[in-house]
Amino acid sequence: MDGTRLKFIIVGASTAGLSSAIALKAAGHDVLVLERDSEVGGPRTIPTGGVRLPPNGCKILFDWGLEAEIRANAVVGEGFTVYKYAGKDSDRDYLGTHRWDPELLSEARGDFLQMRHADLLRILYDAALREPSRRQTNGHTSRSTVTIEFGAEVVDADFDACSVTLRSGVVHRGDVLIGADGASGFIRQRLLTEEDEPADDEFNGLAVYSAIIPKRLAVTDSELKKLYKYPQKNMVTFSVGSNRGAQAFLAGKDEDVVFWVYTPDSVQDGTWTQPAERNIKDIVGACDPLIERLALLSGPATCVQIKNHYELDSWVSDSGKVVVLGEAAHPFPIISLHTYSVAIEDGAFIGKIFSHTSDPGRIMEFLHAFQENRKPRCTHIDLSERQYINVMALRDGPMQAARDAAFRANEAAGRNVMDSGDLDLQQMWDDMRTVFGYDPADDADEWWVSWGRLRDAPTASKGKVLADIVDSDAECA
Ligand SMILES: Cc1cc2nc3c(=O)[nH]c(=O)nc-3n(C[C@H](O)[C@H](O)[C@H](O)COP(=O)(O)OP(=O)(O)OC[C@H]3O[C@@H](n4cnc5c(N)ncnc54)[C@H](O)[C@@H]3O)c2cc1C
Repeated sequence: MDGTRLKFIIVGASTAGLSSAIALKAAGHDVLVLERDSEVGGPRTIPTGGVRLPPNGCKILFDWGLEAEIRANAVVGEGFTVYKYAGKDSDRDYLGTHRWDPELLSEARGDFLQMRHADLLRILYDAALREPSRRQTNGHTSRSTVTIEFGAEVVDADFDACSVTLRSGVVHRGDVLIGADGASGFIRQRLLTEEDEPADDEFNGLAVYSAIIPKRLAVTDSELKKLYKYPQKNMVTFSVGSNRGAQAFLAGKDEDVVFWVYTPDSVQDGTWTQPAERNIKDIVGACDPLIERLALLSGPATCVQIKNHYELDSWVSDSGKVVVLGEAAHPFPIISLHTYSVAIEDGAFIGKIFSHTSDPGRIMEFLHAFQENRKPRCTHIDLSERQYINVMALRDGPMQAARDAAFRANEAAGRNVMDSGDLDLQQMWDDMRTVFGYDPADDADEWWVSWGRLRDAPTASKGKVLADIVDSDAECA
C-alpha cells in the first residue's frame, strides 16, 4: 500500500467477485481475489450452463469496454415464446410470444444476451487482469493491481483484523474484506452469526435441472432443429406447467441449447459443480415433444434447489470492514433473470463509490452506503423473481386458467403475452422497465454528490446523516 489506495480482499472469483475487482481496480485500489476452485468458471467436471444477461447487466460490461468480446460470445435474445409444458394431443400447445420493446432496449442502453457461464467468467477474468490504467493521485502516479489466486479456499476470517485464513494456513490481511462467495459462502455464513435470530434457508419444493445440448446434436433432431429457425432462434422458449416448467434457449458463440427444467420430482440438494443424481429424462414428467426430445438428448445435468433464503439484516459486519455482495448478500431463486446482472451492478457500484476515497477512516461509511443504496433494489428484484416463478409454475386451477386465457387473448389480439390480463402482469412488466434502465454508476454518483462528499467523518452515512438531522431538529424544538 502506498497510502493512496486501499487493499481489498475479495473471496470468490465468480460474477460478483470479478466485477468488483474490475471496478475497484479502475477506482485505483489494489485487489486480491481468493477462489476455492482450481480455475475460473468452476471445475470442468460438468459442462457449465447458460446465462441470460438483461440490459442492466450488459450495458455495464459495454461501458467497461467489453462489448466486442461479449457480443462475440452471445446470442441476442429478442423475446420469448410461451407453451404449455404438457402440450396437447401429443403436440405442442402455443400460448403466445413476447418481444422486447426496441424503445425499452434503447432507453436501457443494452440487449438481452444469452451466453455460457464459462465464457462470461473468462471475459471478466481477463478484464480484471488486464494492464491497469495509471491514476494520478495527490500529485503522483499510482498503479493499482489485481491478483487472483485459485485453489485458495478461505476457511477462517477475523472481521476485526480484516484478515482471512486459507486452507493452506496462509493468512491475508487487507483494509476491506468483500464476501462474493455465493449463497452458501463462508463470509455470508459468518455474517449470519452476527444476526440475532438467523433462520435456515427453506427449499421451496422445486429443483432446477440444467443441461446443455450441443448444436451439432440438436440440428440432427427434427424437433430441436426448429429452435434454429428465425425468429425462434432468438427467443427463449418458456414451458409453463402445473408446479413445474422448462426453459430452452440458444447460448454462446456455438449456439448450443441451454435446457432448464423446474421439477418437484427431485430431492437432491445439489450444486452447479456436482452431477445430478437423477437423469433429466426421469424428472420431466408428462411433457410436450420438444421437452421430451431435449431431455433425451441432454448431456450430464446439474440439480440445484430453489430456496427461500434468509434475508441478512446487515450486509456489513459489526467491525465495519467486511461486506457481502452478489449472491452472498441477496441470493435470488436459482436461474433468476437477474442473478448475473445484479452481481455485476454490485461490483460496478462498489467500485464507483470507492473511486472517491482511499481513506481507511471512511470504509465503514462507504460500506453502509453500499448497503443502503443497493438493498432496496435487490429486495425488490428478489420479490419480482419469486412472483415470476409463481406465475410461470402455477398449479392447475382458476389462476392458471386465467393466466392461460390472458396469454391466449393477447396472442389473438396481436399483443405481447405479458401486455395485460387479470394477473397484474402489466405491473410486473412495468417493474421490469425500471429494473432494466438502472445504471449503478449514476446511482453511486448520486450518493456521492448528495451525501458522500458532504461528510468526512468515519461514521457518516445516509442513515447517519438523516439521524443527525432528526437529532438536531429535536434539539432546536
Ligand atoms: C461453477 C458455477 C457454475 C454456475 N453455473 C451457472 C449456470 O450455468 N447458470 C446460472 O444461471 N447460474 C450459474 N451459477 C450461479 C451464478 O454464477 C450466480 O448466480 C451469479 O453469477 C452470481 O454469482 P456470485 O458471483 O454472487 O456467486 P457465485 O457464482 O455463487 O460464486 C461464488 C464464488 O465463490 C467461491 N467460493 C465459495 N466459498 C469460497 C471460499 N470459502 N473460499 C474461496 N472461494 C469461495 C465459489 O467457488 C464461487 O466461485 C454457477 C455458479 C458457479 C459457482
